[in-house]
Amino acid sequence: MEENVLIFGHKNPDTDSICSSIVSEILDKKNGWDCTKAVRLGNVNKETQFVLDYLGIKAPELIESVEEGQQVILVDHNEFNQSVIGIEKAKILAVTDHHRMANFETSDPLYYNAKPYGCTSTILFEEFKAFGHSVERTEAILMASAIISDTLLLKSPTTTEHDKKALEELGEIAKINIEEYGLEMLKAGTALDDFSEEQLVCLDAKNMEKDGEKFVIAQVNTVCIDDVLKRQDKLEDVIKSKIESNGLSLFVFAITDILNSNSEIIALGARVDAVEKAFDKKLVNNRVFLEGVVSRKKQLLPVIDKNI
Ligand code: MG
Ligand code: MG
Ligand code: MG
Repeated sequence: MEENVLIFGHKNPDTDSICSSIVSEILDKKNGWDCTKAVRLGNVNKETQFVLDYLGIKAPELIESVEEGQQVILVDHNEFNQSVIGIEKAKILAVTDHHRMANFETSDPLYYNAKPYGCTSTILFEEFKAFGHSVERTEAILMASAIISDTLLLKSPTTTEHDKKALEELGEIAKINIEEYGLEMLKAGTALDDFSEEQLVCLDAKNMEKDGEKFVIAQVNTVCIDDVLKRQDKLEDVIKSKIESNGLSLFVFAITDILNSNSEIIALGARVDAVEKAFDKKLVNNRVFLEGVVSRKKQLLPVIDKNI
């Protein structure tokens, strides 16, 4: 059968977006639905590449846009401004996601599986169980990697009991030491030195919109915040040009220390007041240090969004 239904995660894909797309396709095949195909909307980051190399599998094919009427399944996102070019005219058959629902609508009924878990792959793991399917080593490692990535080894406040249980079971199936494997995988994603400032700013940037005001929250993981801050001037030049060319009100660039669970934020744009109000702190040199903050979804977006 022709693979005519495309499955993909968000733009600037992270490990959950890539792994959950691949796992969704596997799950569909186990359910006898042979027409779906995982694809991706951007470059594979170093953390995800570590996972693919570990398993010896190739990244899904890259797509730039979809034609009108293309059948699609979204994982790990729903907001159109984080999705593929042409999404407004695609036919969305299903969504599996763990984010807020916003900037999203369809003309037809659809399957929508949303859970406020730490990771899309946790939802998929529960689907495997609900359907009574066995989980092979490959998909176990794919799902475990996604959970480790999204929850920063279960340390992020987005972590739920569902994620903990899933990761524990997946570790047993895959016969890997989750702590060791996870730290190695997360560290692979923090090798930022050979990225240009442009690449750093775009690596994990998410477009948001509220009442017509567009803003971006980007995030990079590191084991040393100062290493990234050394490049602040050049990062700011890139951020300013993004603000200009995309008509943004605000650009937030979060540098997250995955070992100590803190973030330093660089904020620029006409609405930096939203950041200052959100955290009740003044920006100094366009920066603010946020202790214990690691999650964009739970600790950055909601409070900034509220103050936009
Ligand atoms: Mg994601
Ligand atoms: Mg996710
Ligand atoms: Mg993420």
